[in-house]
Amino acid sequence: MYLKRHLRFLISKSWNYLTLAGVIRSSFLKSYSIKCQNSSKMITLNEVISVLNKMAPLSLAESWDNVGLLVEPVILKPIENVYFTNDLTEEVLDEAEKTGANLIVSYHPPLFAPLKKITSQTWKERIIARCLANGIAVYSPHTSWDSASNGLTDWLISIFDGKITVIQPHMSSPNFNYVVNISSENSFAVQKFNGCLKDFLESQFISQINKEFKITNYGQNNVQILCTSTFLSLLNDMEILSEFDLHANKNETLPSSISGSGRFCQLKSSLTIGNVVTMIKEHLGVEKLMLALPKSKTLDSTIDSVATVAGSGASVLRGVKADLYLTGEMTHHDILDAVHKNVVVVLSNHSNSERGYLNVFVERFSKYLPHLKISISTTDKDPLILI
Ligand SMILES: [Zn+2]
Repeated sequence: MYLKRHLRFLISKSWNYLTLAGVIRSSFLKSYSIKCQNSSKMITLNEVISVLNKMAPLSLAESWDNVGLLVEPVILKPIENVYFTNDLTEEVLDEAEKTGANLIVSYHPPLFAPLKKITSQTWKERIIARCLANGIAVYSPHTSWDSASNGLTDWLISIFDGKITVIQPHMSSPNFNYVVNISSENSFAVQKFNGCLKDFLESQFISQINKEFKITNYGQNNVQILCTSTFLSLLNDMEILSEFDLHANKNETLPSSISGSGRFCQLKSSLTIGNVVTMIKEHLGVEKLMLALPKSKTLDSTIDSVATVAGSGASVLRGVKADLYLTGEMTHHDILDAVHKNVVVVLSNHSNSERGYLNVFVERFSKYLPHLKISISTTDKDPLILI
């Protein structure tokens, strides 16, 4: 049924998306003959991705981001070995290859700006070329982890005890009421669909249409789209879809209302800035931080509230009324602006505010897929050091 070439809409609240996913998975499973070393259960790339998406739905990612499956080798092998890293550099890839990884989960997307060629000229091109040549898939969650409830930003704010709120609650995704899966036995058909979708959207003269959907998985033989009911109706009008097998069902993984960018904590009890600095160092596992103190404050001054964003937080933190901002990096001018408003700024360097979450995520992830070999990079580190 999965490979039939005819349009088929299955729009029903009772249709269970997991059942569909299971059907797709079993189709892939039948095509493999290799088994995992430690288990008779073979785990497909789609199966691992569905766990990753379940833990942090890609619909939570910012619209400017580039998340999900970014590199998919032509020959899909069962996933046996998953390697987690904050950044995928050439040194990190050396280590990933030594561990025998065939899936790398890189928090930051190694592909962001479009590449026009894949040669050996730049490090980003070499990374993609090596991954494809060695059958290594690459998946990036980035801002979906930042935004998710119990995700990276919640891990960062968990340093503090108090009432926690989301600075910019996630607003757009709750409108994505449908999950649409489009598949074809022809690997070129999906690329053809992508081109036809672009032409179709341009022909609609609806400037807001890009806000009506988000492509969350783009594979060799299938595309997954989160969309509104309006977009689903438009898809239904696309004649090209008669060449595809299409399933649409209610989105049962709508993000919770406590997801979004940045976290604010009204502290249960006042803390001295000196104490806060020590607590942050312990949580992030770093020996040094950067601190900007307003004119009126010392390390013995107390604070009652904290606002935090992982990585580069200025765009979210700007204007937030908190006694202290914690993030990875801010520009000189944003720091000056904060201290003139009597806000303490603590910076850890960009990725030092993110990397520690890998341990938390991997511990949870391993419970979903206990037969996988899972490792966290030991090579990955922030390029800047404080001396
Ligand atoms: Zn970052």
